[in-house]
Amino acid sequence: MQKILFVIFDGLGDRPIKKFNGQTPLEAAHTPNLDKLAGDGICGVMNAMPTSLYPTSEEAHLAIFGYDFVKDYPGRGVLEALGIGIKLKPDEMAFRIDFGTVDEHLKLTDPRAGVISSVKDLAKACNNIEVDGITFKIYPSLLYRGVLVLSGMPVKNYLRKVKNAAISDTDPHKSGPHKIGVRVLHPKPFGNTKEGKTVARALERYQYLTHEILNEHKINKKRVKRGLPPANFILARGEGRLKPVQSFKDKYGLRAACVAGAPLYKGIAGYLGMKVLNVRGATGTLDTNAGAKVKASIKALKKNDFVFLHFKGTDMAAEELGDPELKKEFIEKADKAMKQLLDLKNVMIVVTGDHSTPCELKDHSTDPVPILINNQFLISNFQSISNGQNTKFKFGESECGKGSLGHIYGKDVMRIILSQNANLKIQNESLKLKIGH
Ligand code: ZN
Repeated sequence: MQKILFVIFDGLGDRPIKKFNGQTPLEAAHTPNLDKLAGDGICGVMNAMPTSLYPTSEEAHLAIFGYDFVKDYPGRGVLEALGIGIKLKPDEMAFRIDFGTVDEHLKLTDPRAGVISSVKDLAKACNNIEVDGITFKIYPSLLYRGVLVLSGMPVKNYLRKVKNAAISDTDPHKSGPHKIGVRVLHPKPFGNTKEGKTVARALERYQYLTHEILNEHKINKKRVKRGLPPANFILARGEGRLKPVQSFKDKYGLRAACVAGAPLYKGIAGYLGMKVLNVRGATGTLDTNAGAKVKASIKALKKNDFVFLHFKGTDMAAEELGDPELKKEFIEKADKAMKQLLDLKNVMIVVTGDHSTPCELKDHSTDPVPILINNQFLISNFQSISNGQNTKFKFGESECGKGSLGHIYGKDVMRIILSQNANLKIQNESLKLKIGH
């Protein structure tokens, strides 16, 4: 069986951009290497999740890797925690947090506190605080982000007593992409129990307490003086706790590794039992060293059967900045680095996105993303409907929309890839049915 290099560009898909003459950033980008991989392979478009649902990155990745994005989902907080190397215990709760700015009525004025470059010192001032028997530990990660972990008897009791114990978000992120002017939410427990109410109340008290600490912090006082938004509120969301999941190795018999910069994706890989490699220069932002990441992935293929390579820049350019030019440039940078892949022998290369992030929306959307699979077995089995050996192929939304794979879903992806194995014929038949042949 061929080894597999699986590349995910976060938020890859987009919509036509006026200044690109109606092309998307991917279509407008100069990508000779992706075009070659696509032209020599088979293509299609993909929705990781059913289009009736909002595609979050974490659920979309689980679906693409063939997992149940509901049953196997431990909560964003857990994935973020694993991604920055926190060893969670099963009786702890973890939230993903953002340091944001609120006004005196606790209404959000900036959900990212002016995209503050580090919250390390601010987090220190809010760390290891105990409220009502619960200890709140805080771990800063990239920029304004971090993880909040709750432990202690009340948390244990709640998790023990209520099967689907959960605490709702205090970050009003679902109120729209900009969520400005919305008051931070009251955390609510799942189920009407004393234990749940204790945990939710303690979280709220902790947030008010740290709001005061943060307002008085010298870093924030300086920021206000300079006209910058203070990082004065800890917005919590995506509560979760560790739960057992079948490892990638047990599920597919593949030794897997991951090359990513952003903590969430390292966390997803770690959660599925992939070996998470630390690559110098992999920042999880637009300035990442794409060449180093591709090189590390090629090296990782020697010891592993499956390597997951993740790029975050595409999503960042679109979601945080709404800048199609930056998105296009990032794709071009990654494409250049991917030239190294053209010389690989006996490796199946898959390139896709987890969801679309149209620059015009500055948010995820359910527009399908292009997918390419560069593999000789699959090409020969799709000969009559393949784009194999098409030297003029342009990897992008429009051309992939006419590709031989048709429109597939996340749950199909691993099945198609692994159909290079013995059960090729059955898989192929069912796929043909799906795409209308
Ligand atoms: Zn994503």
